[in-house]
Amino acid sequence: MDRWWVFRFSFGKFKEEFTMKTTDYLVKSMTKDGKFRAYAVNATQVVEKAHEIHDTWSASSAALGRTLIGTLLLATSSLQGEAGMTVKIQGNGPVGFIVADGTAQGTVKGYMGNPHVSLPANDKGKIDVAKAVGTKGTLSVTKMAPGDKTPYTGEVNLVSGELGDDFTYYLAQSEQIPSAVGLSVFVNPDESIDVAGGFMIQVMPGASDEEISKLEKTLKDLPLVSQMLRDGDTPEDILKKIFGDDLKILETMPVRYECDCSKERFAHALASISKDDMKKLIDEDHHAETVCQFCGKKYEFNEDELKKIYAEMTANDDKKSTDEK
Ligand code: ZN
Repeated sequence: MDRWWVFRFSFGKFKEEFTMKTTDYLVKSMTKDGKFRAYAVNATQVVEKAHEIHDTWSASSAALGRTLIGTLLLATSSLQGEAGMTVKIQGNGPVGFIVADGTAQGTVKGYMGNPHVSLPANDKGKIDVAKAVGTKGTLSVTKMAPGDKTPYTGEVNLVSGELGDDFTYYLAQSEQIPSAVGLSVFVNPDESIDVAGGFMIQVMPGASDEEISKLEKTLKDLPLVSQMLRDGDTPEDILKKIFGDDLKILETMPVRYECDCSKERFAHALASISKDDMKKLIDEDHHAETVCQFCGKKYEFNEDELKKIYAEMTANDDKKSTDEK
């Protein structure tokens, strides 16, 4: 008996650690007839990490969280290889702007104007994301491939501020893909993230009006993603609730909050300020500190390092003027 108990105890603990490490992943699937593409993601730890980095309060957590989840779904469905994407939301609500960068590999990072927004619940008893984001403004998506000098940007006006509908509208208007996007974040009373996730369904050519109406009805009756995740549903379970057994799982991939910043990158950014400002930094401040907005990491540059950057700026100027001659 004791042994069994010990076993159960350690298994329970193992299971807890195991789930702690693996709740976040994204599933790509397609209906067997090829008429719908369907993605679902559990991004609880992604949004929890964003909450920890930026000290977000509930309405800010939900707004930034939904943007991160939407970016993950958009990036993993529309980018190839090393390409990246920046989603910017600029609404007239108290959270201000929201920025999220995503990659085809399932990494995402973001920040926002005001992380300290909490609001009374809306009439559905939910976090009032539309009020936090604002109902007037824009959502823009910029896609960048490595070596690409003219990135493509698509921009639409916000249609609801709840963000799921706004991503749907972006896909329809800017990419001509009829779709449905559901994004959901549940914040605990202590501000930690209980669950966060979403789905995206894209209608492929060949789907009939009848099939689309049937899907719309299913989605109308579907519980919120946060409710399904709290009930213990996996991304696969969510997709199954929408399409039943008519699905082919194409890929399962981990997703995570990841910042790829480096001192080198900030040195590069510093080199883009004016030479006069750089001279001031060297002569008056004798050092510079830069902070990564995505992850909060600080990078210090001492006087010698700044002088080196200044020398490179001057060398580049000389080269430019030689090139021009
Ligand atoms: Zn960073």
